[in-house]
Formats: sequence, structure tokens, C-alpha cells
Amino acid sequence: MNGVFAQVSPKEHFKFDIGDDYQLATNTQTEAYFKKLAESDRVEFVEIGKTEEGRSQYMLIVSSPENLSKLGRYKEISQKLAHAEGLSELEARALANEGKAIVWIDGGLHATETLGIHQLIETAWQLTSRNDPETMRILDNTIILMAHANPDGQELVSNWYMREKDPTKRVLQGLPRLYEKYAGHDNNRDFFMLNLKESQNIASQLFIEWLPQIMYNHHQAGPAGSVVAGAPYRDPFNYVFDPIIMTSIDALGAAMNNRLNAENKPGYTQKYGSVFSTWYNGGLRTTTYFHNIVGLLTETVGGPNPTEIPLVPHRLIPNGGTTFPITPQKWHFRQSIDYSVSMNYAVLNYAQRYRDELLYNIYRMGKNSIDRGSKDYWALSPKKVDAINLAFQKESKMARPPSQLPSRYYDSVMLDKKRRDPRGYILSSGQADFPTAIKFVNALVRTGVLVHQASANFTVAGKNYPKGSFIIKTGQAFRPHVIDMFEPQDHPNDFKYEGGPPVAPYDAAGWTLAYMMNVDFDRILDDFDGPFKRIPYGELQSPEIKPLASSSGYFLNAQSNNAFKAVNVLLKAGQSVSRINTGQDMGDFYIPATEKSRNILRSQIASPGLEVKSASAAPKNATKISGLRIALWDTYGGSMSSGWVRFLMEQYNFNASILYAQEIDAGNLNSKFDVIIFVTGAIPALGSQATASSNPTTTDNIPEEYKTQTGRISADKSIPQLKKFMENGGKLVTIGSSTAMAYHLGLPLRNHLMQISENGKETRLPAEKYYVPGSILRVNVNNKLPAAWGMSEQADIYFDNSPVFRVPTDAISKGLIKPILWFSEPKSLRSGWAWGQEYLQDGVSAFEAPIGKGMLYAFGPEITFRAQTHGTFKLLFNQLYGK
Ligand SMILES: [Zn+2]
Repeated sequence: MNGVFAQVSPKEHFKFDIGDDYQLATNTQTEAYFKKLAESDRVEFVEIGKTEEGRSQYMLIVSSPENLSKLGRYKEISQKLAHAEGLSELEARALANEGKAIVWIDGGLHATETLGIHQLIETAWQLTSRNDPETMRILDNTIILMAHANPDGQELVSNWYMREKDPTKRVLQGLPRLYEKYAGHDNNRDFFMLNLKESQNIASQLFIEWLPQIMYNHHQAGPAGSVVAGAPYRDPFNYVFDPIIMTSIDALGAAMNNRLNAENKPGYTQKYGSVFSTWYNGGLRTTTYFHNIVGLLTETVGGPNPTEIPLVPHRLIPNGGTTFPITPQKWHFRQSIDYSVSMNYAVLNYAQRYRDELLYNIYRMGKNSIDRGSKDYWALSPKKVDAINLAFQKESKMARPPSQLPSRYYDSVMLDKKRRDPRGYILSSGQADFPTAIKFVNALVRTGVLVHQASANFTVAGKNYPKGSFIIKTGQAFRPHVIDMFEPQDHPNDFKYEGGPPVAPYDAAGWTLAYMMNVDFDRILDDFDGPFKRIPYGELQSPEIKPLASSSGYFLNAQSNNAFKAVNVLLKAGQSVSRINTGQDMGDFYIPATEKSRNILRSQIASPGLEVKSASAAPKNATKISGLRIALWDTYGGSMSSGWVRFLMEQYNFNASILYAQEIDAGNLNSKFDVIIFVTGAIPALGSQATASSNPTTTDNIPEEYKTQTGRISADKSIPQLKKFMENGGKLVTIGSSTAMAYHLGLPLRNHLMQISENGKETRLPAEKYYVPGSILRVNVNNKLPAAWGMSEQADIYFDNSPVFRVPTDAISKGLIKPILWFSEPKSLRSGWAWGQEYLQDGVSAFEAPIGKGMLYAFGPEITFRAQTHGTFKLLFNQLYGK
């Protein structure tokens, strides 16, 4: 029981009830309250790491006092069942019988979705204070991990909201900066890459420490005319999942929906009732699917300001998506809190009733994965079905195959040895940028993937690999995640109706991390072995430290991303650095040896890892480089794309000032900067008004320090200043939609993605013909240009309906425009979905154009996307040095 604990209710602590109109709790208050709750014998308070702003990130572990006294044992059971290694069916059943269901519930990830953290506070209080039979059964049979997903964001948002003394004047709008230091809303797109400290902390609890069988991730809001959008979700789901994931989401969704219906709480919508799907990896919820964890997401309406459930007539017809429609009415925050507590209880009640089944099923899924990765296995996917139809069409010469075919066509594809799923992947330690490959390996390690490393040279399939190479086998519990990080995502052709417009994927369609990071790997289709040392779960890897030879100078390979990091330290320390400008080693860095340069190189070899070659003499064909005064565009409220570049600048030791529209409009830019970076969303399209929607219309009510940050890039004020900046020798790097700068300057080029309509007019290709949502495409690279030094002749780029240009040949021959990246093939898709990709052929994807004494660089693809695209970072970095 709960005897010694002096129960402090939210009202006593916060001076208001959770869910009262116009009241939000800060993180400081929440942390203090959680520490008070931890005085209960049902609760443990755990710090899981520090946030990007240096706060404590924390989690409550809630269970019965008996269970809390044996947490170590229950964690061990959870890990053993999730890894499923060497466990017999009988042993698994015994462990499932002994163990407790582990359920993760988080709050606050998207800080402006204020329900998230407030439902967590209320649920923690109820679980701590209630003694009804259901609560007691939950405490006895489950261990609940209640984690704060973003303490920094809560502090910012709640203080912003509460700064207004008059409650009825309080508004969430107009937040001056991102609610996660670098990523804002994209903090929920970081869970396979794990760039951010918060994501790393959460991943270590989810994928290394606890491996819960269920996780529940709270968001808001659902579609207008509903209260909650929840599980199960619409198609497509990712083909690498174990089917038990999908049916378990169904079961948990039914439990939540059913409980709300039984409590007379209408308005839950599921499946085609909302846009959420289970295709994407990389969200806090979605990455868990690839680890056999049943991930739940709800998007619930409501906030501290009273609102309305609007009238949306089509939502009033009950159907399988919405069994119990809600009618238009006034809505208060407390109702959203009550809904959320009900749904948490529905999940926890399910977990306590099906405790042993949940524990056994995560073992079953892990075991299935191990089995699939330990034999010849052919996963089903749209491409394989296409191949089956094609095999029939080739023989029958029929334009359209019937719906039923002889089964030998199945065999021709699904027993084809070449089409097998791999048994594993080898990352050679001999590759050009091994430290970046190690970053990739660490992303896998942080998500709990089992990795091996070669302790000696070895040979597989006739190829020799050096000692230190990494091996990732697919015969492991988290095989879905392994496959997903190495193999293309085969997104189906998803249309509203045949010949109709495409259905947008919820986030990216393709994201194969090994491609985005340009990691060199081999797929191994047969069983293989070697002198492979198992790396303990969660143990991060670092490059081998090779001693620095004594020499008169040193070379750094331009293919290495960390070379740029080292070069920036050297330049800041006043050391001489030059780049080779001709021949085979074009772009490589040369550093004359001094005591200082040797010390810097030594420390960079140790961390983050660097390959250094000795130079016998100073090269003749090298140009000295210098650091530049870099500016990075941002806007009031914060641009996520800019935040990610800011993150990159810090990671790679570039100093970048943040530049806002007002300062650009004031002119005189050459006196302050040498290069300005514009990410996607900065420069408006020609003939349209400014972008950046988060701008307040008035500066009256915003703190002094943010007043210089309002305003937008405009065609009449900003563009002329930027033109002048380039004419006077400045460099502009534009990415994504900001390549519209080229049109503002009137450069001789056009949009490549046009068609001649029936009336003879040129129009944009419609989405029915051409549509490429977030996917990975292959382009050709002119790596002889300094802009692309260190790149290979082909590269995988992240493309999201990105700009593509048609450049007339005489503009190229006159040197007005130099293409850097272009599409040379009719099929450039590497991973994801590229409907009508043939239209891309011969399109220019990136170029440079001299403007006066300066230069415009235009990169259509997202070369710095979410700080994940390590393979194309150099396309930015190269532009950040001068002579
Ligand atoms: Zn959200």
C-alpha cells in the first residue's frame, strides 16, 4: 500500500488542477512534482541523461513496491525475451510467465502540443494515488516507464504562455524559437540517426535498457471534427515488420477505442479516418516497430485555451474509421486530459491482462527474425509482385495480366537465388571515409542492433576484408531495423484511384541510411563467418588510433567528412592549409608540419577519428585556403532546416552567425560576411510573397531580444541586397526551395519538370504524372569542380519534390552556369517512391553560376537533410572556404 507517502496532489503543488483552462506547468515545476511523487513506494525517479540545453531529462518508473524491489530481474527478462537469442520455446514461456509487462508512456515531445506532458503528470498522479482494483492490478503486473521527451521545450512553451498575467490573453502562438534547440518538430524524425541528446537518451532506455513490449507516444491534434486519431493506422505499413506488430496495434487500438466508447467519450478515429501510417522509420513511435515493440500514437485535440469541436458533416456518419462520432461542442483542456488518462489506462489494463502474451510475443517476433535471417528468405514487396506479373507478361505477351496466374511465376521470382534477402552486411575498414561508416555503425548500436567486428583480416565470397571491418548479420531480433537501414524502401504506388492523384506518404517514402551516409558495404546472400568479435549491446565504437608519423607535412583525404572538422581547428589555430587543385587527389588537404599542427592532428585522430597520410614534400599543385565569415539564414520562430545546419556547423567546427531578414534588408553585407547559407523555405518563389509563416504580424508583444528576428526575405528589399552581395564577391549557397534565387536573378534556365499541354501552353507536370516525395535518388556529379571535391562521380541524394533545372547548352558553354549534379538515367530512384521518374532525365539538380565577382550555388536536393545525409555534407562544406 501507499502508507508512508504524504500524497501531494497536482493542485497542491502547481496551485491549479491539471487541465484547468489557461494553466500550464513548466518543466521546473514538473520535475519538482515528479520528485515529490517519487517519495511514494510505487515510484522511482530516474535521470536518463542531459538535454541539448543542459537540463535533466527524466523518467518515472511506476509499479508495485514488490516489483520495484526486483527491477533488475524484470529488466533482464524483458531484454532476454526481446533479443530472443538462444532461448527455447519452453524457456521463453517460463520467462514470459515470470516477467512483468513493460509499458513506455511519454509526454511532451512536441512541446506546443501541451496535452502531451500534462496528461503524463495527471496519469502519474493517478497511478500513484489510486487504490481501485484496476490500478492495483496494473501496478502488480506491469512496470510503467513514464518519460519526459523534451524538458527544454516544456520550459520554453509554458513560460511563453504564462508570461501573460491576464489568463484570457494567454496564447501559445508566436513562440520565438524552436522548442528543441536544433530541430523543433523534427525532434520526432531523429530516431534512427539519433543526432540529438534527447533522442539518444530515449533510445538508450527503449532499445538498450528496457525493450518495452508496448510504447505509447502522445501528440496532438487529430483531424477537425474528431477528438483522437489513434491506432490502428492507414496503409501502407512497412513490409519489413513482423505481422504480429500489425495485429497487436489492432488489438491495442481496439482496447483504447472500446474503453472510450464504454465511457461515453466519442470522437476516436482510426485507419482511413486520419493520415497517420506505419510506413516511416525515424519517429519516436515508428522506430520501435522495427524492434518488435508495439508502438502507439494518438493525436488528441485540446489545449489550455477553450476551443470548439467544429462541425465537419462527413465525420458525423459512423463507419469503421469512426465508430462513435462526436458532435459539435465547446471543448476544455480537462476533457482532453480525461481522454488521455482513459487511453493510458486502456493500454495499461490490456498490458496487465495480456502480460504473458505480450512478453511471449516479443520473443516470438525476435525468434521469427532470427530464423528469417538464418536461412534463404524472400520477403514480399511491391517490386517482387511487379516482377511476377512481368514474368507472366513476357511469356504471354499480354498487356495486362489476369488477377490469377499459374504458380510457377511465383517460383520464378520468389525462389530466385539472386532475389534473396541478405544474411548480413560487411562494412570494410578499408573504405575511403571509415570514420563516417563508424558513425553509421553507432547509429545502429544506439538502436540496440547487434554488431560484430573482425579481429583479423578475413575473406567472404572471394573478397578480402581488413581487420576492424564491421559485420551486421540479419539473423537477429531487430532484423527489420537492420534491413531498413541498408535496403531500399519499396514504397507502393499509392493513388486515390486509378489515374488519380497520389496519396502523400505521412513523412518520407525512402531513407535508407547507408545510402544517405554514403557508407560502402557489401550485401552477403549466403551464410558466412569469420574471426568476428561480438560487440556488447549499446557499446559505441570509435576508430582505431594510429600514431602520427613524423613528416614534413600531411595529407587529409577530401572524401573524409572529419577532414573538414580537423581543417577548421587548424585554420582557427592559424595553421596553413591548402587543397590540391589538379590530378587524382584533387581536393585533398595539405598541412605543413608544425608542432601545433601535429598536436591538432593527433587529437583529431583520437577523436572524432581521422586518416592522415604523410607527405614526403609539399605539393606544387595546391592552393592555400582560409576560413570564411559564414552566415546562416534563420527566421523568427526558428526554421528546422536552418536549425539542422546550425547543428552541423557546430559538429564540424564551422563558426556561423545567424542572419535574419532585417539585417539582410539593411544591406552592407560584404562588410560582415563572405558566404551566406539559405536553406529550404528561406527565399520565396519568383512572383510569390515571402515564405516563413511563423512570423508574427506585429512586434508589439514580443521580447526585445527577438525583435530583430522578425520579417521575411522579400523580392523587393532582400533580393537586391543579396545580388549586390554576390556582385561584390560574396558567395550564396542556396538549398531546396531557396534555389528560387536563380529565377530572381534571371539566370538563363527553366524548370525542367514541365509539359506542353493540349492548348500548346507549357505547364508544370501534374502530380498524376510526376511525384517524388522524400526519397533517395542517384545523380551524376562533376567532382572536378571545387564545389564537389571529395565526392564520387555518382552520389545518392535526398530529394523531396525538389527543384530541377533545364539549362540550355549555350549557357553551359559560355560558362554562365556550371552543372554540379544532374540526372543522366531514365531511372534514378534508389529508395522510396519516384512516380514518373523518367521526367527527371537530363535535368540539372545543382549548379554554380558566377554573379559579378561572387558566386551563386544552387542545390535542389536537401544536401543537409535532418543532419542525416552525410554523403552530401561536402557539397555545403566545400563552399565555406576562401583563398
Ligand atoms: Zn506531435
